[in-house]
Amino acid sequence: MTSVPYDAWLHWVVNDVCNLACPYCSAGNSWKYDTYAPIDIDTFLQSIERTGKTFLVRFTGGGEPFLTRNLPELCLRLAERHYLAFNTNLIPARARQLFSQLSPDRVDNLHCSVHFAELERQDLHARFIDTAQMVMARGFNTTFAAVAYPGHRDRLPQWIDMYRSHGIRIILAPFNGEWDGKTYPQSYSEDDIRYYGFGKRAHYFQAPGASADG
Ligand code: SF4
Repeated sequence: MTSVPYDAWLHWVVNDVCNLACPYCSAGNSWKYDTYAPIDIDTFLQSIERTGKTFLVRFTGGGEPFLTRNLPELCLRLAERHYLAFNTNLIPARARQLFSQLSPDRVDNLHCSVHFAELERQDLHARFIDTAQMVMARGFNTTFAAVAYPGHRDRLPQWIDMYRSHGIRIILAPFNGEWDGKTYPQSYSEDDIRYYGFGKRAHYFQAPGASADG
C-alpha cells in the first residue's frame, strides 16, 4: 500500500553494478564508477511530462541505483511534481546527500537492504547506521531488510541485536539460490523457519505445488 497520490507507476532498474559484493548476488564487485552512463535527465523528464500523469518512480537496480552519478539531480527535479521510492544499500555518499535534501513527503518508501557480512568486511557498519539514523530522524517511511542467508545463520542474531541497539529494526527476507548443495528457499527446514521468525510467512518459501498454511 502506498502513502502518496499518483496515477502512474514506473519501476526503474537503473543499473546492474554494485559497490558491495554479497555472496548471494551476482552484481557485486562490478562497480565501474567512471564508465557507467549518466541518465539523460531532460529527455526523461520531457517524456513523462508529455503523459500528463503524476508518477511514482521506484529506483532499484540489479545493483545499487546510487552508483549512477546523476541520480540525486534527477530525483530532486522529479520531486518537484512526482513521487519517489527507493531500494538501496544506503552506502554511496550520494544516497546520504540526496536523503539529507529531499522532502520525505515526496517519498513513498525507502527500502534499505542491510548486508551485514559485507558491511563488516568493508568496515561500513558505522556508516550505514549513521545514514539510517539520519533518514529515520528526517521522517522517511523506511524499512530495513536483510537476507536470511544460510551461510550467515549463526551470526544473524548478533548483527540484528547490534542494529536494534541503534534503533534500526531489521526484517528478514528469504534467500533465493544455491547454498551448500541445496536450493533455497525450498530447503529451509522447519527449524530454520522458526529460527528466522518467518512464522505464517513460511508458505512463501515452499516449493511450487506445496500447500500453504495461510
Ligand atoms: S548490495 Fe544488493 S546488489 Fe549489491 S552485491 Fe549486495 S545483494 Fe547484490
